[in-house]
Amino acid sequence: MLLANKVVLVTGGAGINGLGFATALQMASHGALVAIMDLEGARPEEAARRLGEEHLGVVASVTDKAAVDRAVEQVLARFDRIDILVNNAGITQPRKTVDITAEDYDAVLDVSLRGTLLCSQAVIPVMERQGSGSIICISSVSAQRGGGILGGPHYSAAKAGVLGLARAMARELGSAGIRVNCIAPGLIGTDIIKGKLTEAKKAEIAETIPLGRLGRPNDVAGACVFLGSDLSAYCTGITLDVNGGMLIH
Ligand code: NAD
Repeated sequence: MLLANKVVLVTGGAGINGLGFATALQMASHGALVAIMDLEGARPEEAARRLGEEHLGVVASVTDKAAVDRAVEQVLARFDRIDILVNNAGITQPRKTVDITAEDYDAVLDVSLRGTLLCSQAVIPVMERQGSGSIICISSVSAQRGGGILGGPHYSAAKAGVLGLARAMARELGSAGIRVNCIAPGLIGTDIIKGKLTEAKKAEIAETIPLGRLGRPNDVAGACVFLGSDLSAYCTGITLDVNGGMLIH
C-alpha cells in the first residue's frame, strides 16, 4: 500500500477508458481516497462509485476558477486534506498551424494549461497548510518532439506550457514541502485516439516504438502512483517519459 490514507484529486478522471480513471483505480488499490473531478456530462459521481463508496465525484470544468474552487471545497469537506493532485484533464484537436482558430486555441489551451494552473492554485494553500503535497501534471510527448500523432501545434504548445508551469511551480514550492512533476505519455490507447487511427496505422506506429506497442492507461497510472508516493520523495521538477521509447533524449 504505497498511498495508504492519502487523499488524491484527479481531474478529467471520469472516462473509464482514460488515463485519469486508470490512475484513480490504481491509486485507490494502493489505499488512497480518491476524488474525481470532471465535466457534468462525464458523470464523475458514477465513476467514483465504481471505485467504491468511500470515494467522491465532483463536477467542475477545470477552466472555470469558481467551479474548481467549489469542487476543492467539496473534497475538503469530505476528506479534510489533499495530498496529491493529478492535473490530467486535456483535449486535443488535429489541426494544421494555419487552420487553428481563436476558438480552437482557447479550447485546447484552456483545458490543459489554464486548467493545470487553476487546479494547482486551488490546492496549493491546502498543501502549504499540511506542509506536504505532490502535484502531477500530465503533459505529452507531443510537447517534446514537436507534435504527437494526432494533436495540432496548439496542443503541443499547451503541453509544453504545462512542462514550463510545472517546473516553475516545483522551484517555487519545494521549500513548502510540495513536489511538482510531469509525466509525458507517448501514444496511449484511450478514447482520445478512438476512431482516429486504423488498426493498420496503430500497428505501423507500434513497429517504430522500441517496446513494440502503444501504451496502456495503466502504464501512466503506475507512473502517477510513483510520483504521488514517498518512493519519489526526492523528485521534483522532473519529466517522467512514459512512451515505450518512442522518444529517447
Ligand atoms: P480522454 O479523452 O479519455 O480523457 C480526458 C478527460 O478529461 C475526460 O474524462 C474529459 O471529460 C475530461 N475533460 C475534458 N475537458 C474537461 C474540462 N474542461 N474539465 C474537466 N475535465 C475535462 O483522454 P486521455 O487519453 O485519458 O487523456 C488524459 C490526459 O493525457 C490528457 O491531458 C491528454 O492530453 C494526455 N495525453 C494523452 C495521450 C494519449 O495518447 N492518450 C498522450 C499524451 C498525453
